[in-house]
Amino acid sequence: MSDCLFCKIIAGEIPARQVYEDDDMLAFHDINPAAPVHLLIVPKTHVATLADVCPADEAVLGKMMAIAPRLAAENGGRTLPDGGLRVVMNVGPDGGQEVYHVHLHVLAGERPWRGMAV
Ligand code: AMP
Ligand code: ZN
Repeated sequence: MSDCLFCKIIAGEIPARQVYEDDDMLAFHDINPAAPVHLLIVPKTHVATLADVCPADEAVLGKMMAIAPRLAAENGGRTLPDGGLRVVMNVGPDGGQEVYHVHLHVLAGERPWRGMAV
């Protein structure tokens, strides 16, 4: 999608503080962090929202979830049992989604957090 912000980050056309990449997904720091650690994990394939996901996208969504604790810990999050993390996906207008390319928010670090609207 030529007019999609996250597709442009994936293509290297817009800079981002990247923390992870593989064939299927990319992770980078959120530009406006709501917690001491705030990463976004995006699939490399453009999918607008979670409601648009098709069976071919299911594996990468699982990978995005599964890698979240590791990326949080590698980027300053505290591990369990004292630490932890929060994963959030906003879907559509009522979900508070602003960028229409599926992304998982990964929030971590010592509280209090500035917080998201959840
Ligand atoms: P959402 O409201 O779930 O669509 O979240 C979009 C997120 O993208 C917000 O937390 C923004 O701070 C973040 N964001 C917007 N532009 C950029 C950018 N250029 N690089 C990194 N994160 C961004
Ligand atoms: Zn996109």
